[in-house]
Amino acid sequence: MSQVTHRSKTRPVNVGNLVIGGNDEIIIQSMTTTKTHDVEATVKEIDRLVEAGCQIVRVACPDMRAAEAIPEIKKRITIPLVVDIHFDYRLALKAIEGGADKIRINPGNIGKREKVEAVVKAAKAKGIPIRIGVNAGSLEKKILDKYGYPTADGMVESALYHISILEELDFHDIIVSMKASDVHLAIEAYEKASKAFDYPLHLGITESGTLFAGTVKSAAGLGAIVNMGIGNTMRISLSADPVEEIKVGRELLKTYGLAANAATLISCPTCGRIEIDLISIANDIEEYISTIKAPIKVAVLGCAVNGPGEAREADIGIAGARGEGLLFRHGEIIRKVPEEIMVDELKKEVDKIAEEHYKK
Ligand code: SF4
Repeated sequence: MSQVTHRSKTRPVNVGNLVIGGNDEIIIQSMTTTKTHDVEATVKEIDRLVEAGCQIVRVACPDMRAAEAIPEIKKRITIPLVVDIHFDYRLALKAIEGGADKIRINPGNIGKREKVEAVVKAAKAKGIPIRIGVNAGSLEKKILDKYGYPTADGMVESALYHISILEELDFHDIIVSMKASDVHLAIEAYEKASKAFDYPLHLGITESGTLFAGTVKSAAGLGAIVNMGIGNTMRISLSADPVEEIKVGRELLKTYGLAANAATLISCPTCGRIEIDLISIANDIEEYISTIKAPIKVAVLGCAVNGPGEAREADIGIAGARGEGLLFRHGEIIRKVPEEIMVDELKKEVDKIAEEHYKK
């Protein structure tokens, strides 16, 4: 995107080896569903998330057992680790000491000033950021009393309240989320937040639902926000395997041309001209390209009548013809292949093109 957006105007904040904010990238993250103290299960889940394209992972830290597991988890994973703490400052201190790359805690919920200061001092010493998580469902009582119910203005006020606590302590490595399960409210809150401060924004629609409904709801809400040039990191929240959250997030970013390292599938909607089993081929190829880390476009089309022309922007594609497949590149047919081997041939061509990109 060439226009200057809130995304690129935000303050850059380091999280491990990544930078959130200050550029047009949106970093994809997810949260584990395992008990954090179960290091084996947690690391195994994180490995699956990384394989799917997860760039940052968050773990819940509800008790000291979880906080004590952080060093071992950290040692065994390759991506930045965020530790999610609700109130207990001792858990925050333990997580920071254990190597957390970022903590998620609302300073206004920690309690006494000395406790807040201890957490901020520890985060500063390690150079790690704090994410403030504003949630429409848990706004401070005084804000709810003022507005009567959760509003975007109330959410921004809550964010500014927590930000001010950190700023007073000269702490500025801040990332803020403005989550709501109501899509309209989330869009308005993020838009207002983007005008109220320049800290990077973590995007999410909370409690969005199951894989199918939650995907639609998240895409509708987050798509509108991303399209406004807002958002620096994102988690799709689904009542599903967290790997699905990464897949949906990556697909959403691809839709907006914001995923520089992912392959895209173009497949036709099918019609009466169809000559091949397009639906199963498209699903097979979608799965195949899901781990490719290059911005290539692969097309799968039901027939040759409109096929190659309809997918002129594809780097490689296949169109069904009677009993065979037509392999094409950028709209030009390069060769014909028998139907039985056309999917394998397409995969080989995809690998070749991906290799060319990796070498660049
Ligand atoms: Fe129909 Fe062919 Fe277009 Fe697919 S590519 S929608 S089968 S005309």
